[in-house]
Amino acid sequence: MREIPKSYDPKPVEEKWYKFWLERKLFHAEEVSDRPPFCIVIPPPNVTGSLHIGHALDNTLQDILIRWRRMQGYNTLWLPGTDHAGIITQYLMEKMLAEEGLTKEKLGREKFLERMWRWKEESRSRIINQLMRLGCSCDWDRARFTLDEGLSRAVRTAFKILYDEGLIYRGSYIVNWCPRCRTALSDLEVEYEERLGKLYYIKYPLAGRSGSLVIATTRPETMLGDTGVAVNPNDDRYKHLIGSKAILPIVGRELPIVGDEAVDMEFGTGVLKVTPGHDPTDFEIGKRHGLPELNVMNPDGTMNENAGKFAGMDRYECREALVKELQRKGYLVKVEEYQHSIALCERCRTPIEPLISEQWFVRMKPLAQEAIKAAQEKRVRFVPEMWEKEFYNWLYNIKDWCISRQIWWGHRIPVWTCRDCGEEIVEVDTPQRCPKCGSPKLEQDPDVLDTWFSSGLWPFSTLGWPDDTQLLRTFYPTSVLVTGWDILFFWVARMIMLGLKFMGEVPFRYVYLHPLVADEFGRKMSKSRGNVIDPIESMEKYGTDAFRFALTASVIPSRYMPFPESRIGGSRNFANKIWNASRFVIMNLEGFEPKGEPPRERLELCDRWILSRYNRTVSLVNEALESFKFETAAHTLYDFIWHEFCDWYVELSKIRLYGSEDPEERYTAQYVLWRVLEGTMRLLHPIMPFITEEIWQMLPHEGESIMIAPYPRPDEGLIDEEAEKRMELLMEVIREIRTIRSEMRIPPSKEISAVIQAPDPSKRAILEEHVGYISHLCRAPRVEICESASRPPTSAVAVAGDIEIYVPLADLIDVEKERERIKRELKKVEKELEKIEANLANEQFLKKAPQHIVQGQRERREELLTVRERLLKNLRMLEP
Ligand SMILES: [Zn+2]
Ligand SMILES: [Zn+2]
Repeated sequence: MREIPKSYDPKPVEEKWYKFWLERKLFHAEEVSDRPPFCIVIPPPNVTGSLHIGHALDNTLQDILIRWRRMQGYNTLWLPGTDHAGIITQYLMEKMLAEEGLTKEKLGREKFLERMWRWKEESRSRIINQLMRLGCSCDWDRARFTLDEGLSRAVRTAFKILYDEGLIYRGSYIVNWCPRCRTALSDLEVEYEERLGKLYYIKYPLAGRSGSLVIATTRPETMLGDTGVAVNPNDDRYKHLIGSKAILPIVGRELPIVGDEAVDMEFGTGVLKVTPGHDPTDFEIGKRHGLPELNVMNPDGTMNENAGKFAGMDRYECREALVKELQRKGYLVKVEEYQHSIALCERCRTPIEPLISEQWFVRMKPLAQEAIKAAQEKRVRFVPEMWEKEFYNWLYNIKDWCISRQIWWGHRIPVWTCRDCGEEIVEVDTPQRCPKCGSPKLEQDPDVLDTWFSSGLWPFSTLGWPDDTQLLRTFYPTSVLVTGWDILFFWVARMIMLGLKFMGEVPFRYVYLHPLVADEFGRKMSKSRGNVIDPIESMEKYGTDAFRFALTASVIPSRYMPFPESRIGGSRNFANKIWNASRFVIMNLEGFEPKGEPPRERLELCDRWILSRYNRTVSLVNEALESFKFETAAHTLYDFIWHEFCDWYVELSKIRLYGSEDPEERYTAQYVLWRVLEGTMRLLHPIMPFITEEIWQMLPHEGESIMIAPYPRPDEGLIDEEAEKRMELLMEVIREIRTIRSEMRIPPSKEISAVIQAPDPSKRAILEEHVGYISHLCRAPRVEICESASRPPTSAVAVAGDIEIYVPLADLIDVEKERERIKRELKKVEKELEKIEANLANEQFLKKAPQHIVQGQRERREELLTVRERLLKNLRMLEP
C-alpha cells in the first residue's frame, strides 16, 4: 500500500504547489484567445507595510472567482498591482524620518522621494509575497504600480483631456485642510468622531447703540477672522437688528449683521458669527452677502499676521489665550460642556481646519450623470443590490472633487506656468519651452494629484490605456470588481465615472462589495482594541486552506462580518477530515484504474445516493458562485464532504472493500469513491487550492494540475430521488440506534442487537433489503425487522416516524449502575438549573448584568432543560 502521511501538514504542500503553478505559468492570461475572457483587476493594496485581514478576505474571494472561471475554460486575467497611497505613505515615512531626527524639508524633495521609492520597493515585495502565500493566482508578469511609467502617462493624459474640456479647473475655495499633513483633502478623506468639547458663549456689543448679542461657538479662535454676524430672518428675537452692526470683541472690527436662512435658530443663541475664511457654511453665507474672506491661520495650524497679537501661536494655544482675555474683559458669558462631532484627517486623525486655498477641482456633475445612467441601464450591477441606492444617493448630491494635494509623494500635476509671460501650460510630456513666448523658464505646479485620481483609472490604465492595446480590447470592460463597501465612493464610483469618460463604457460588469471583517462581537478590528487577527500568523498556525475556507464561510450580506479565530480552527478540522477520508480512499484504490463506468445495475443504493447527492452539490456550488454567494458554496461543500461523503459513503464502502470477494463489486465501490472524491476536489479547489491539488495528484487523474482541470458540471441523469428517499429512511433509523449506543454508554467494541417495528410494508421492504447497512454502521449483527413487536424487557426505545426501534440493554451494560449514574447527573443538572432560574427571576441581575451574560444564561437554561428531558427519558427506559 501507498505511504501517505497520517496527518496533513500544510506548509510543505503549499510551498510545493505554488512553485509548481508558477513554474508552469498556469496563472498566465493570453492576449488573444478563442476562449471567452474573464478579468478582475485587483484593488491595489497600499505600499504601506503589509496586508491585513481585510486584504486576505478580498483577495481570497477574487482568487475563488478566478480559479473557478479558469477551470470553466475562460481565458482568465487577474491583474495584480499596488498603490502609492500618497498621503498615508508619506505620513508613515515622515514618522520614520522623525525617529532619525530628520524631516522631509531637511532631506529635500529629491532625496525624500529616493527614500520613498526604496521603502515602496520593500513594501511591494512583502505584499506580493503575502498574496502568493495566500495562494493568489495573479498574472504576476503583468503586475503594475500606480506610479510606474505607463500609469503616470495615463494620469497625465486623463488630466489633460479633462482640462481641455473644461472639466478640470483651478479656484480658491474653502477646503478641508489637515494642518499636520499640510494638504487639502477631499470630503471623503475626512472622518467624523463624537467628542466632548466646549461651547463658548461670547458677547458681541452692538455698534452705535446699547446692548449686545451673545454668540455660541466651539472654535473661538476663528472669531479673529469674523467679517459678519448672521441671524435667521424669520427669528423674531433678532430680525429687527438686520442691517445694523456689531463690534468684534478685542479686535474692535465692525461686523454687519445680515439675515440668512441658513442660520439654525435652535443652535446656541440663534446668532451666528460669520467666518468665511474658516467655515464652509460661513463661506457660502459670506458669498451671498458680500462679506470679505479673512484667513487668520497658516497652513500648519498656527495663527498668521491677521490674528494680530495672537500671531505665531498654535490654534489651540490661541484659543486658550483668547478665552482668558475675553473672560478678563467681561465678554465671556459662559462655557458649556458640549458633545459634538469633529472632522478629522482620515490618515493622521488631526482635526481638520477648513481653509480657503487655491486648488484644482474636477467638475463632477456631468461625469456623475453618465454613471447614474449606466447603473440604471444595468450595464454595471451591484451585489448585494442594496448598494445601488447608496451609489445613486451619493452621485445625485455630488460636489466637485478637490484633486490637488500639497505633498510630494504622488503624480505631479502636469501644469506649468511660464515665468516670463504667465501662460498656463498643460501637457502630457514635460514641455521645454513656452508655446506663447518661447521662454524656457517654465515652472511646474508643486502639488501632486489625489491618489484616487490615479486609482480611478486603474481598470484601463493597467491594461495599457491611453494606447489602444490588444489587452484592453480583450479584457475591457472587466468582469467583476471585488472590494469592501467602504470604498464605494472613494474608488468604485470614480472608476465608473472615469471609465465611462475615457473608455466610453463601464470598467466592470459587476461590483461585488463584501463586508468588513470584525471580531466575534461585530466590532471593527483595530490594534488599539487588541482584537486583530494577523493573516500570516493564521496561515502559519492553521494552514492557508483552512484560513481561506474560514473567511469564505463567514461572509454575510452585511456591513460587518464577525470572524472569531475559532472559525479558523474549525476549518483546520475540516481540512484534516478531508485528508483522512482521502487517505483512506487512496490507500484503497491500490491496483485500481478507472476502466469506465460500471453498468447501472451494479450500482448499489449507497452508490446511486452519493452520486445523486454529489451532482446536486455540483449544481448548488456553481449557482452559488454565479451569484457571488461565496458562503453558500463553502457551507454546501462542507456539509456534503463531511456529513454525506465521509460520514456515510466512505463507511458504507467498507462493506465491499473489506468484505467482498467479488472483484466487480470491489471495482464498483472503488470507482464511485474515486469519481466522487476526484470531482469534489475539483469542486472545492477554488476555495482550498493546496490540499485539493495534493490529493488530486495522488488520485488517478488527467492533466497536469487540478487548477486547469475542468470544473464539474452537474449530470442531471444521476440525480436519483428514489435512492435519496430510501437512504434518508435508513439513515434516520441508523442515527437513532447510534444515539442509543452513545447515550446508554454501550462500549464501541460491544455488538448489539436491535428489533425494528415497521408497520408500513414498503418501508419494511427497504429496511430488509439494506439490513446490511444497519448492521455494519451500528455494529449490530442481529437486526430483526417485523410488522409488529413487543418491547423486550430493559430495552432502550427510539422512534423514527411510524417506526419503533428497541435495543435490549440487559447484556450490554450494568443497568443498575447506569441508573445511578443518570440520577446523579440529573441532580447536577437540576442544581444548576435552579441557580440560573433564580438569576433570571432577579430584577437586579437582569438590569445590571451585561446583555451577553443574560443572553448566555438564557441559552444555558434551554440547554439544561433539553438535557434534563433526555436524562429522564433514558431513566424511564432503564426501568425493568
Ligand atoms: Zn493629516
Ligand atoms: Zn511664456
